Amino acid sequence: MPSVDRVLVVGAGSAGAAVATLLADTGVSVDLIEAKSDISALGSGITLQGNALRVLDRLGVLDACLAEGWAGDALVLRAPDAEATVLAELAEHRSGGPDLPASMGMYRPDLARILVARAQRAGAKLRLSTTIDSLRQDDTGVDVRFADGYAARYDLVVAADGVRSATRRLLEIPLETRSVGMGVWRVFAPRPREVLGSQAYYGGPCYTAGYTPTSESMLYAFLTEDAQDRTVLSPQQTVETVRELIAAYHGPWDEIRASVTDPARIHYTWTEAHLLAAPWHRGRVVLIGDAVHTCPPTLAQGAAMALEDAAVLVEMLATVDNVDEDLLTRFAERRLPRVEAVVDASVQIARWQLDGIDGDVPGLMGRIAAMTSEEP
Ligand SMILES: Cc1cc2nc3c(=O)[nH]c(=O)nc-3n(C[C@H](O)[C@H](O)[C@H](O)COP(=O)(O)OP(=O)(O)OC[C@H]3O[C@@H](n4cnc5c(N)ncnc54)[C@H](O)[C@@H]3O)c2cc1C
Repeated sequence: MPSVDRVLVVGAGSAGAAVATLLADTGVSVDLIEAKSDISALGSGITLQGNALRVLDRLGVLDACLAEGWAGDALVLRAPDAEATVLAELAEHRSGGPDLPASMGMYRPDLARILVARAQRAGAKLRLSTTIDSLRQDDTGVDVRFADGYAARYDLVVAADGVRSATRRLLEIPLETRSVGMGVWRVFAPRPREVLGSQAYYGGPCYTAGYTPTSESMLYAFLTEDAQDRTVLSPQQTVETVRELIAAYHGPWDEIRASVTDPARIHYTWTEAHLLAAPWHRGRVVLIGDAVHTCPPTLAQGAAMALEDAAVLVEMLATVDNVDEDLLTRFAERRLPRVEAVVDASVQIARWQLDGIDGDVPGLMGRIAAMTSEEP
């Protein structure tokens, strides 16, 4: 790649692994650092929409992901009644194009492992258990000192270090991350044989209760509620609380509920939102993914946006001889309208649910699906 020879990527999540792969594929020397001591991911399952699958395809890992995950093309809506009455079966939009499934459920650690292994095969050098201690930049590069004692100079630093990005703080970029007011329980459980795709129940004690298969044998279930302090619960109380919430739902939930016994398979998170106005860089350090935009998972678009950031950044780097402020400003300006639409729509749907407003959710989802069907 003419514009950069040596790049540091901070954070081996979806955005970081993708950008490392695409750069290393073009012969760029890439260091990929990860704060954690292993490649894992919390939260059991993830839904990847068609536009995310399009980037996985570009990365050459789509088949590997499809082999581990569970592709789907429809969403079944059911009532929170004793029969779990089926209300509708909705065909999902194939936003990645007609050749790709509408969405795929996947076990997060499987996705992380596949993406990082691909980056390493491309030639990216992965270092675990390390972070940036300090960075100093001039017109031609960035000098970085790492917590593990290593130091190096790079043409570009790509910070993909997530919602609480330490690089963002190092650069003193102010950004307020707000709680949306909604908490999400996620449970990893065996897949009842009758569950062949995503199903959602609206109403009952939770705003939404649903599940998505992540493989032949497993699924992840989610239950949303008002955000509250659940850290006070003991592991046993965590299991009991989730079983109690599930008890209001039936159909396949009955079998899922019976399998909820292990607190290690339950995660609770508050949903949050933030969006950084352009630019997303300072000098030769550029931020991507959750480090600059995050939203509640009401549209399941967070990882898709992070993967798209990676693909667009590398595409734009290939078009110039020198990476400069102009290129990095144009990158954020190109991404911002699309990302902003996703963040706003995701927050809007959560707000409608929290405020008990019967908003036009299908209409909003349809508009986002139409937008994300376009190439980023
Ligand atoms: C409850 C919930 C459900 C969700 N469900 C979905 C869904 O179904 N579909 C979807 O598309 N999105 C979903 N999302 C959003 C999605 O998880 C994120 O948008 C996506 O993971 C962002 O990817 P990323 O690579 O930018 O950040 P991350 O995945 O957070 O990766 C950042 C990486 O950087 C590492 N790191 C952090 N700090 C440092 C540091 N200082 N130095 C080095 N490394 C560091 C972290 O350990 C991590 O590996 C959900 C989010 C939540 C909260």
